[in-house]
Amino acid sequence: MSQWVLASGNAGKLAEFSRLLEPLSIDVRPQGEFGVSDADETGLSFIENAILKARHAAAATGLPALADDSGLVVDALNGEPGIYSARFSARAGGASGDSANIDHLLSRLDGIPAAERSSHYYCLLAFVRHANDPTPLIAEGRWDGRILTERVGTGGFGYDPVFYLQEQDCTAAQMESSLKNRLSHRGKAMATFMPQLQAMLGQE
Ligand code: IMP
Repeated sequence: MSQWVLASGNAGKLAEFSRLLEPLSIDVRPQGEFGVSDADETGLSFIENAILKARHAAAATGLPALADDSGLVVDALNGEPGIYSARFSARAGGASGDSANIDHLLSRLDGIPAAERSSHYYCLLAFVRHANDPTPLIAEGRWDGRILTERVGTGGFGYDPVFYLQEQDCTAAQMESSLKNRLSHRGKAMATFMPQLQAMLGQE
């Protein structure tokens, strides 16, 4: 069993990656187990930050590292909150947390009609074999939706209560988590990542 480090402390992500990687005899451990602190996310894009996080974890542990970076991209806001999704309200001087972030998003979109409220969730996965790896494996996923004017549903997290999916006629917060995992930006990125990983392992 080879060991990898996950550049995140999120228990949900760890469980999802472990489930996917265990059949490949990869034991993925959270970076906290090795005492690795969070990397400075100084990039301006998801891909830059995911690679920064993966390199940071690989450098600190000497292990291959996997990182993801995700967020909400709103067209009418020129892509905001983007890489700042988790801190959207706090960066504007407001409170922190999911609820404050949704309030801030709704106020920024106040008066914008439904047709102009298009948005997508985006996820970027980066894997480095070692800290200086010049050819990281990269996988991306996006999930298109529209931002409502008020919250609907209580499931999920983050912006899910205001993220509406036309095809399913519900918000991400109203979806069964198994369906969300299949349709979501993160699910799609993982589905793209797996064949790349299998090809890499086959070449070793
Ligand atoms: P992270 O990359 O997991 O840290 O996600 C950054 C932020 O993007 C989160 O704090 C949420 O605000 C938002 N986000 C990412 N994925 C989702 C999702 O599936 N649902 C709701 N919000 C999300």
